[in-house]
Amino acid sequence: MGEGKLSTRNELLHHFQSVGADLYTRGVVSMHGGNLSIRQEDNLVITRSGSRLGYLTGPDLVETGVNKDDANTHLASTEIGVHRAIYQQSLFKAVVHSHPVHAVALSFLDDEINPQDEGGKLFIPEVPVIGFGKEPAPGGFAREVAEALKTHAVVIVHRHGSFARGMTLEEAYVITELLEISCRILYIVRNMKP
Ligand SMILES: [Zn+2]
Repeated sequence: MGEGKLSTRNELLHHFQSVGADLYTRGVVSMHGGNLSIRQEDNLVITRSGSRLGYLTGPDLVETGVNKDDANTHLASTEIGVHRAIYQQSLFKAVVHSHPVHAVALSFLDDEINPQDEGGKLFIPEVPVIGFGKEPAPGGFAREVAEALKTHAVVIVHRHGSFARGMTLEEAYVITELLEISCRILYIVRNMKP
């Protein structure tokens, strides 16, 4: 591996580590929950199955094809099918999958979440709940998630977790955090009503 490629790899790891640590320390994922990926032309770099987002190291980043399997594919997160479907159907370059508690809780109740705080209303006014009323499974609803992410920055899979997309991991992370803040506010307001 040449020096140029090595520094790119280190920069990439740094992005994954900072977003993974933010998600973990802010309680948006549990120790082994969630997964991150970025697209590089025909390949994607995705977190390893079972990796700890708060403590990522070099071997936790798995590079494999967007469209076809290779020797690394089996190491990737079990949600790889969803990440691939998003890249196959769009020009987005990053995906963050996490389990934000209040957003997931609200996904039990409705097939769409409508944030009411200013930031949420502005950036994520409608958040579709994918697979509402159906049983969630790892890697499930890939086609439906990818389709909805063409027109929405973030979606929630019913009783499971969120998928946010963007041009960078940081952008997808910011949307994920906004979703959880908006859902926390919605939850609090609902419980304040007499
Ligand atoms: Zn998940």
